[in-house]
Amino acid sequence: MNSAPYRGRLAPSPTGHLHIGHARTFWIAQQRAEAAGGVLVLRNDDIDAVRAKMAFAEAMIEDLRWLGFRWQEGPDCGGPFGPYAQSQRRLFYEAAFKRLQAGGWIYPCHCTRKDVRQAVSAPHAGEEGLIYPGTCRPIAPGAVLPGEKANWRFRVPDGEGIEFVDGGFGPQRFVAGRDFGDFVVWRHDDVPAYQLSVVVDDAAMGITEVVRGADLLLSTARQLLLYRALGCPAPAFYHCPLICDASGVRLAKRHDALSLRAMREQGATPEEVRAKMGEG
Ligand code: GLU
Repeated sequence: MNSAPYRGRLAPSPTGHLHIGHARTFWIAQQRAEAAGGVLVLRNDDIDAVRAKMAFAEAMIEDLRWLGFRWQEGPDCGGPFGPYAQSQRRLFYEAAFKRLQAGGWIYPCHCTRKDVRQAVSAPHAGEEGLIYPGTCRPIAPGAVLPGEKANWRFRVPDGEGIEFVDGGFGPQRFVAGRDFGDFVVWRHDDVPAYQLSVVVDDAAMGITEVVRGADLLLSTARQLLLYRALGCPAPAFYHCPLICDASGVRLAKRHDALSLRAMREQGATPEEVRAKMGEG
């Protein structure tokens, strides 16, 4: 149990306009931070320079403020754990990468997506993608030479049950090697992958509870392995149900009509949007 003062975070990626689904999850994060008398951090998860856009980063801060969000640390107001934009935190990710490499936790993989697809006999379609079949996995952990232009993968402990008690969904259990495979921590285009950057930042920023969408439950299992490998205490997790549109499709940034920006431009007030957020 973590008895440190509560620190929560909002961690949007500026790859599009925020929609009502993000807002609802963030609202729960804000309420939990407030109820605990804690601190809320805003982090700009702009690590993916190809997809992240400066204009979206500015828009997300503006939209969040408009809707009534308040944070105590962030890219706009600073704080003791900055910088608060992932694009400025590369040194942290490199240090973690080196630790994983020195510990023999990761290995370079030269497989393309197509290679992985072809090697997997029963394709595991859907959100989480394919389970990596281990083609480039070295026989002995640690027995690898650094590869150039490789995806670096974390070797998961096959068969181990990764368990945690989620604040929203209760007890969870995922089996490494069955529910998820060796995952990428550093991409071949020299960008730290989501799993690594988020763990490094949540740990470095002293986050005590991560509140986010239920689509990331399985990623939490992966991230728990990274916390363990890096020797950092893991935060608590609270996953929120996702909002679907009228036809049952999960909201995504492409649902422009439900973006906070579009609703605001159509004259909705923050109170109206918050009321709508509560219905989902
Ligand atoms: N920036 C990530 C996203 O928007 C954060 C996810 C998380 O909460 O870990 O998907």
